[in-house]
Formats: sequence, C-alpha cells, structure tokens
Amino acid sequence: MHSSLISIFDFFLPRFCAGCEKKLNVNEKPVCEECLKTILTVSEERIQNEYDRKFRSEGIISGFYSKYVFETDKKLQDIIHALKYNRKFALGNFLGENISEGIKSLNWNIDLILPIPIHHLKKAERGYNQSDFIANGLSKSLNIPYSKNIIKRSRYTESQTKLDIKERANNVANAFRIKNLKTIKGKNILLVDDVITTGATILECGKALITSGAKTVYACSVGIAE
Ligand SMILES: [Zn+2]
Repeated sequence: MHSSLISIFDFFLPRFCAGCEKKLNVNEKPVCEECLKTILTVSEERIQNEYDRKFRSEGIISGFYSKYVFETDKKLQDIIHALKYNRKFALGNFLGENISEGIKSLNWNIDLILPIPIHHLKKAERGYNQSDFIANGLSKSLNIPYSKNIIKRSRYTESQTKLDIKERANNVANAFRIKNLKTIKGKNILLVDDVITTGATILECGKALITSGAKTVYACSVGIAE
C-alpha cells in the first residue's frame, strides 16, 4: 500500500498497543516491543516438566509447546483478554505468528492445525473463538493448513476457573467429537489453545482425535498458567 494511504488509514483508524494502550506506529505489531519484553517466556526445562506432569502418562499428546508464562495482572492477560472479549482479532494472528518460531524449531511433522473449540452456545454469545485467530496466524507462518470446524464441543462445560484439577478433568471428559473423520485420518495434528492450565481440555481433545483415527497429536498454546 502507498505510504500516504497508510497514514490516512492510521489517522482514521489509529491502533493502540493491547498491553499499554499507547498509539502504535503504522509499522508496529499490535503489541509494542516494550510490552512484549515484560512477558516471561517459558524455559525448555519448564516445558519438559509440564509435559511430564500433564501429558506423558496418558500417551495421547506426543509433544507440547508453550511460549509464555500466563500471570494474572500482567500484560499477557490484558492481551488475551482483548483478543477474547474485545474482538481484537489481529492479536490472534500476531500471537500465532509470534509462537510459530518456537514450534518450527521442534521439527514436528504437522499436517493440520486445529484450534481447541469453545461450545457453540458460548461462541454464539461471544461471536467467535479466539483460538481460531491464533491458529490462522500459525497456519500462515508455518505454511500448514488449519481448520476450525473439525472438532465440536458437544457438552456445555461450565467455566473451569473455580474447579480443581480432578473436577476440571471430569468437566471436559467426552466433551469433544470429531465431525469429519476423513480429514484427520492418519494425520499429524497440532492443537492450539490460547492458555493452558491443567491440560485437561487438550487431553480430551487429543483423545477424541486419536480415537477417531488421527496418527499423532501435538499441542501448543500462547501461554501456560500456574
Ligand atoms: Zn505496549
């Protein structure tokens, strides 16, 4: 686009950083560098520990990656909140692109990217699933297709926030079904979520995929919560 046209857009539709609300320059990403720098990244050791703790024994999830530590009252929470509730879709694409480098370095063999779905009632209420946009950003960066209509959340699961680990697992047990078996049969799949907490949701999704014929299931998220 011509630079004068870009400045006209910028004048009428100024963009603001999702972390600190400062006005962004036309060539800045939707989160400014200063804010990005404040977000803790997850160490390789922590990823390994989380994998061992959450997924290893089940034998469903073959690999796991998360880039950032999700802390309450910190920038990443503001950013995810803006994507989830304020229709800041560009943030989803940005976050997807942002975590793609780490995933590339793992050399996973991925055929298809699938966002973790939210229930259709919740989707109707909010209008969209935030993870679809993260998956879209990842898909573009990794040059791997993504699909948002393959996994259905068949049970309305209550909000997970007030439940302990065991209650969370029960809450999402058998909550997912696969709509298009042909598309996932024999495929290596990467599941995408915004924030992983206990991993129960990822695990249930993975079970549904493996039971339905997927070959391998990897999981990734932007953030990992305590
Ligand atoms: Zn900022």
